[in-house]
Amino acid sequence: MARQRGNREAGGPMTGAPVTSPRVPAPPALAVREVGKKFGGVEAVRDVSLTVAPGQVLGVIGPNGSGKTTLINLLTGVYRADRGSIQVAGRETSRLRASRVAGLGVARTFQNPHVFATLTVRQNLMMALRHSVRAGRQAGRSEAGDIDRWLGLTGLADKADHVASELSGGQRKLVEFARAMARRPLLVLMDEPFAGVYPAVKRVLHDQIRQLAASGETAFLIVSHEIPDLIDLSDQFICMAAGAVLKAGDPAEVCRDEAVIDAYLGASHPVLRNGAA
Ligand code: ADP
Ligand code: MG
Repeated sequence: MARQRGNREAGGPMTGAPVTSPRVPAPPALAVREVGKKFGGVEAVRDVSLTVAPGQVLGVIGPNGSGKTTLINLLTGVYRADRGSIQVAGRETSRLRASRVAGLGVARTFQNPHVFATLTVRQNLMMALRHSVRAGRQAGRSEAGDIDRWLGLTGLADKADHVASELSGGQRKLVEFARAMARRPLLVLMDEPFAGVYPAVKRVLHDQIRQLAASGETAFLIVSHEIPDLIDLSDQFICMAAGAVLKAGDPAEVCRDEAVIDAYLGASHPVLRNGAA
């Protein structure tokens, strides 16, 4: 199995194989510096800087239209930044096509899951490995094993041979998540993973994100309006407003911030009323 993972060893903590400690500290999974993107006169993203360490979870909150999805589109190479720098594990990606960014270990899930409706669940996951092969990696036996593992972890094993169009919206979210994770990404960008899913699906996503992050295997940037879930998962938060980072820091600290309450949460938000922050 050949994985292009910087100084991460193939078969790392997830498989229990010994991991050689690197002599130099690992670069951040994601380092964004002063990134900006305009659409005509609209500055959808302006002057955004952030860092996500390997295995960290960054929660991104902010009102509708504040630039959260555009930020994900910039980080995945769907849009090209007008200015600024984006580095994934120390490599500049701001000028790379989306397929090249994906090949460097960046995976993504969408607010409305993108699955191949006419393919089975298993075939959907296999598409992830094809992508890896296109990026110059070999789909080895252990990667095929990853598909079975992810089918099991997401509770989709008994749906493996069903076509995706037969699944519920929440199950499609799980397929998309499993497909992203089967590639063993360095960084996963998730747009509203918990919106409109049943509690049971939410629990699966939540538990898997937490375990993967804790293992140090994968870093996450998660956009969500489900603040209690996001506080629970995240090491740090940013709140965006009008394309910029309004406040960054510890999740509870960000949620208590006056400017964040004014711009987004509102004084009557349940998180504040319940004292969770
Ligand atoms: P959020 O995800 O936080 O709701 P978006 O990133 O979708 O916000 O949008 C940020 C701003 O950029 C909005 O004003 C939106 O209308 C604008 N925008 C986003 N994508 C495009 C696009 N492809 N063309 C023009 N304007 C866009
Ligand atoms: Mg959005």
